[in-house]
Amino acid sequence: MEFYLVNKRSLPNMAPDRPLATAALALAVLLGLLIMATRPPGLLTADSAQSSDEPSGDEEVTLPPAEGEPDGQTVVDPGSVSGLQEEELSYDGPVDTSVTYPALPRAEPLTEYLEGRLSDEVAAFDHANPGADSYRADWNLTAARQGLVGVRFVATESDSEGESERFSTYWYDTGQGQVHGSTHLLDGQEALTALNTLVREELGEDAHTSGMYPISALYDSIGFNPDGDLVVEFDTGQVAPASQGRTHAVLDHSEVEPLLSELGNRVHEAATVGVDTFEIAEAPDTGRDDSLGPAPGTILPDDGSVDCTDTGTTCVALTFDDGPGGGTPQLLDTLGRHDARATFFVTGHPVQEHPETLRRAYAEGHEIANHTLNHPDLTSIGADEATMDLSSTQALVLRETGYEMDLMRPPYGATDGGVAAVSEEMGLAQILWSVDTNDWLHRDAEKVADTALEGADDGAIILMHDIHSTTITAAEEIVQELESRGVEMVTVSQLLGSTEPGERYTDGVPEEGDQEDADEGADASDG
Ligand code: ZN
Repeated sequence: MEFYLVNKRSLPNMAPDRPLATAALALAVLLGLLIMATRPPGLLTADSAQSSDEPSGDEEVTLPPAEGEPDGQTVVDPGSVSGLQEEELSYDGPVDTSVTYPALPRAEPLTEYLEGRLSDEVAAFDHANPGADSYRADWNLTAARQGLVGVRFVATESDSEGESERFSTYWYDTGQGQVHGSTHLLDGQEALTALNTLVREELGEDAHTSGMYPISALYDSIGFNPDGDLVVEFDTGQVAPASQGRTHAVLDHSEVEPLLSELGNRVHEAATVGVDTFEIAEAPDTGRDDSLGPAPGTILPDDGSVDCTDTGTTCVALTFDDGPGGGTPQLLDTLGRHDARATFFVTGHPVQEHPETLRRAYAEGHEIANHTLNHPDLTSIGADEATMDLSSTQALVLRETGYEMDLMRPPYGATDGGVAAVSEEMGLAQILWSVDTNDWLHRDAEKVADTALEGADDGAIILMHDIHSTTITAAEEIVQELESRGVEMVTVSQLLGSTEPGERYTDGVPEEGDQEDADEGADASDG
C-alpha cells in the first residue's frame, strides 16, 4: 500500500488553485483504495516487485493508476524517482530569475540539455523585452517509466505588460541519452500538420485558430492525461487572448493514435500508468541515435528541394524587408499559389505586431532573416548597440517560431568592418542584393515588376519591401512571369548554400566581385 502515501504526497503539487479538481482527484484516490482493498493480496506483491525500468507482463493489471487532471498531463511524484535532485539555474543578466530543473542520476545528457535550454529561454526573454523584469520556472515530471522521463516546465514571465505563462515538455530516452522536444511524439511533419487541424477544430472559437501553424514553437508542450488522451497546451496569449491564460486541447487517443511516432506510442504507454519507484540503472550509450532527424515543426530554410548549383537550373531569391506588414498574408497567398519561396528580412516591431504572419511565413517554408529591431544605420551606433538591436529581433523570432536565424541584412545596406564583426559574433551572414527595385520610392507596381523581372538573372537577389501595397501587387506579376520562364524562386539559403557569419553576399553568382557590388547597392537604397 506504500504507493498511496506517494500519491498523497504529490497532491499539493497539483494545481492548488483548482480546489474542485483536487477534490475530485482525492476522491479518485479514495476510490482506488477501495478497489485495491478488494483485490487478492498476490497482485499487490507482484506490484511492489515490479522493476519500474523494465516492463513486466502483468504490470498493466497491478500498477497504480496514473495521476493528474483530465485537462493536463499526467503527474509523477518526484519522490518515486531514486536519487533525484533539484538544480537551480544561474543567469548572468539583468532579469531576476528563479529557475529550477531536475537532475537524475545517470541522466547527464538530460541535465545538460535542460540547463542549456533554460538559459537560452531566459536570455531570449531578456533580449526580446526591454521591460523584462523576472523569469520563474518550475518543473514537474510527466513520466518516469520504461526508459522514458518526461519533464514539463511552467515558466512565469513578468515584464512591463504584466505576467504570462509559457509551457514546455521534454522527453528523455534514458537508453539513448537523448532529449526530444514534444513534436517528436508525432510521426513527421504531415502528422503534426494533421494534429494542428484537429486542434484548430477542437479549440474552435476559443482561439485565434487562423494563427495556428504546425511549428515546434507552438507545439512545444504535448503529452498525455491519465486516461491516455493527448493534451496540447499553449502559452498565455499565444493562440488566444492573454486574459484566457493557458489554452489547451484534449484529443481522444483513438483520434491521434495514427499520428504518433514510435516515441509517441512509447510515451503514451509510459505516461498513462502510475509509477511506484523508478531508477535509471545505467548511464546511456555514448553512441547517440540521430535516426529521428529534425523535430517535426522545424522548417529548414533550405530543404534540399532545389539544387541551385545545377547549371540547368535558374534560381532567383526574392527578398522582402521591413515587415511583416498588413499585406504580407496576401503576398504569402501569391507565393503559395506559384510554389515560390522568398526570404523575409523582418524588423522587430512588425514582428511583435504580426506574430501570426511571421509564424505562417516560417511554416510555409520561407526564410526568416534579421533586419534589426529599430532599423538603425548600424555603422553609426557602435558595436554594443548594434548587438542589442540585432539580438532583440533574433530573440523575438526565436520565441515565435523556434527558428534561429543565420542571415541578416543591414538597414540601408550600410555596413563596415564593425558591423561585419558584430554579425560574425552573432553567427549571421550579411545579405545585400544585386537588384534594387526602389519600390519604397516609386510605389508603382508596374515599375517594381519591370525592374525585378529585368534583373532576374540566375543568382539574383532582388530587394523589395512587403510593407507597400504596390509591392504586394507587383509580386503577383513577378511570380507569375518567373514561373512561366521556368525560374526557381528560392530562399537566400537555397541560393547561397551554406554561408559564413560576418561575410557579405550580394548574389548567388559564383566567381563574381561580391564586395564591389555590395558597395554599389548600399549607396542609394532604403534597404
Ligand atoms: Zn529596411
